[in-house]
Amino acid sequence: DSLAEPDYLDRLNQAQRDAVLHGDGAVALPLLIIAGAGSGKTNTLAHRVAHLIVKGADPRRILLMTFSRRAAAEMTKRVERISTEVMGAKASTLMEGLTWAGTFHSVGARLLRDYALEIGLSDAFTIHDREDSADLMNFVRHDLGLSKTESRFPAKNTCLAVYSRAVNAQCELEQVLAKSFPWCIGWADELKQLFAAYVETKQAQNVLDYDDLLLYWAQMASEPEIADHIGGRFDHILVDEYQDTNRLQASILTALKPNGHGLTVVGDDAQSIYSFRAAEVRNILDFPTLFTSPAEIVTLERNYRSTQPILSASNAVIGEATERFTKNLWTERQSMEKPWLVTVRDDTDQANYVCAKVLEEREAGVQLKQQAVLFRASHHSGPLEVELTRRNIPFIKFGGLKFLDAAHVKDVLAVLRFAENPRDRVAAFRVLQLLPGIGPSSAGQIIDVMESALDVTLGLSIYQPPARGAADWPGFVDVFTALRNNNKSWPSDMERVRLWYEPHLERIHEDAAVRRADLLQLEQIAAGYPSRQRFLTDLTLDPPDATSDHAGPPHLDEDYLILSTIHSAKGQEWKNVFVLNTVDGCIPSDLAVGERNEIEEERRLLYVAMTRAKDALHLVTPQRFYTHGQASRGDRHVYASRTRFIPGSILDKFMSVTWPKAINAAAGSKHPEVRVDLKSRMRGMWK
Ligand code: ATP
Ligand code: MG
Repeated sequence: DSLAEPDYLDRLNQAQRDAVLHGDGAVALPLLIIAGAGSGKTNTLAHRVAHLIVKGADPRRILLMTFSRRAAAEMTKRVERISTEVMGAKASTLMEGLTWAGTFHSVGARLLRDYALEIGLSDAFTIHDREDSADLMNFVRHDLGLSKTESRFPAKNTCLAVYSRAVNAQCELEQVLAKSFPWCIGWADELKQLFAAYVETKQAQNVLDYDDLLLYWAQMASEPEIADHIGGRFDHILVDEYQDTNRLQASILTALKPNGHGLTVVGDDAQSIYSFRAAEVRNILDFPTLFTSPAEIVTLERNYRSTQPILSASNAVIGEATERFTKNLWTERQSMEKPWLVTVRDDTDQANYVCAKVLEEREAGVQLKQQAVLFRASHHSGPLEVELTRRNIPFIKFGGLKFLDAAHVKDVLAVLRFAENPRDRVAAFRVLQLLPGIGPSSAGQIIDVMESALDVTLGLSIYQPPARGAADWPGFVDVFTALRNNNKSWPSDMERVRLWYEPHLERIHEDAAVRRADLLQLEQIAAGYPSRQRFLTDLTLDPPDATSDHAGPPHLDEDYLILSTIHSAKGQEWKNVFVLNTVDGCIPSDLAVGERNEIEEERRLLYVAMTRAKDALHLVTPQRFYTHGQASRGDRHVYASRTRFIPGSILDKFMSVTWPKAINAAAGSKHPEVRVDLKSRMRGMWK
């Protein structure tokens, strides 16, 4: 029936509407939305999905990919809200079908389980996180005797980084070494041997690492029959933050939709910040010419997020970039407040400044949740976390230490993983060594016994542990057997594992009570999952973030300040944003200083950080800056200066101040950089 155009279209500007209506009804040619920060790209994408559904598209046949589970969940919620406006309650029923929304990795994991038989995988594979992968790489390295050579063979994390880069960039090893790991060039042959063995070991153990989720998917998609089959499941494939995809991801998309029909990608080349994971900004720039049918290109120029002064300062920072496609943005959000450029003495003052301002803003009615503190690397927030805790200001931290990085949580998950896939050696080693009296060599023996036995549980039960471990052995075998045999007892299995683990927890850790609370929380999370396998997959791919009270997920009804790495702040916005350590040596990082590409990526990083702010932005520059763990130089304090991305020529876009004011003298500047309106103060004295 031909109703009037839905109301939600009125809320969009012309260009956004074009993107939403593109291919409405007919075959949708490939669509690219390329535009700067805060111009409504994600919002437009959500409207497009909603509109497709309103116009009769089947949500089960829509694949939506974003960069985090959080972003995917937010997007589906928005789609539901928009379509409800037109369809009422029917929308929420339909929305249950919109299940293909997630990251490339999580979608890959799901498809690989679906098609496991067709491609010779067992569908009971378990997934290794980066730490597990590094551990496995290490096993293999030892096995091959590479760690014993007299000269220093690259460390396990370097080996993994090289491997991962080569896989994701789809590049020859030699090229990757020359470009990004020049100090490893001499090891090319050994590395090849190592990687070959690493791949074989993963296969023998039925485990996949993060990169495999993309690699197997891409390989699977290069088989025409399977590609047709998967491509045929989806009428629409939509990708947000496309500037941060790598070659492998681009090749997956083109394999699924060779003519580009039904494909929508969205991004901003000025925000490309993941080249260290082989992201390829060319992906988005090349998209228009990728298919025989030309892609429609929509650009957006109006920013709805930030005030004009914040936008002008951000434009000035990115304006100096050497290469850029998207243009400067404009906004109608006027304000008198320029972004603050705040000089402080050191880490401690930086933390105090942030706390003071955060509380001031809260007094003025800005919730903590509407304020965020951004930093380059997770450890940069250390002193601030201490100060926040001291002042009882609750916070949640994104992109830093994850809930799952905590040893006790990993232990429990390893037990589940071991039961899910007894060939997963990294899990097996972790679990077995929890038992008293069992070290690496007994663990190795047990695994050998298990593997040679016809049945793994039988193998375990006939094993004779060393005397010290004898008392605990039968209890472990019981739990393991129960987990193996009874997949129907999920999620109560979680409790069984916890009860078994608790005495070990108390033996290993002094703060067992706090850690026990985490495990209870983990049990609650597990209760929301239909199966052990789904639970393990999801938690490995996108673990919950850490909060202030202990490393658990946030309590959603509370107000809390947001702490986040800049990388994890992608796509988000807050009223009040602080950026820590905007000094040379941090942004740009002193590891990047050198190659021009690297420096340009650092500039984009600052741009991403600044464009998160809606109403107020504080860039904090400590005069003394603590650098961490650079192998050659060690931890130390260095004297730092303002980031080179804010040269004198654009300083007028900022309001420069020092805090506390007394440090002017110490800094030796000729004039204090404060601006106060003394005239109005004089007038106020007599009122
Ligand atoms: P980023 O590059 O940071 O990911 P983005 O381009 O995806 O940004 P959005 O997050 O979609 O931008 O939108 C930024 C803000 O502007 C949001 O608060 C959104 O609700 C608002 N917005 C977008 N389009 C409009 C519009 N047409 N009218 C009013 N507000 C809008
Ligand atoms: Mg966005």
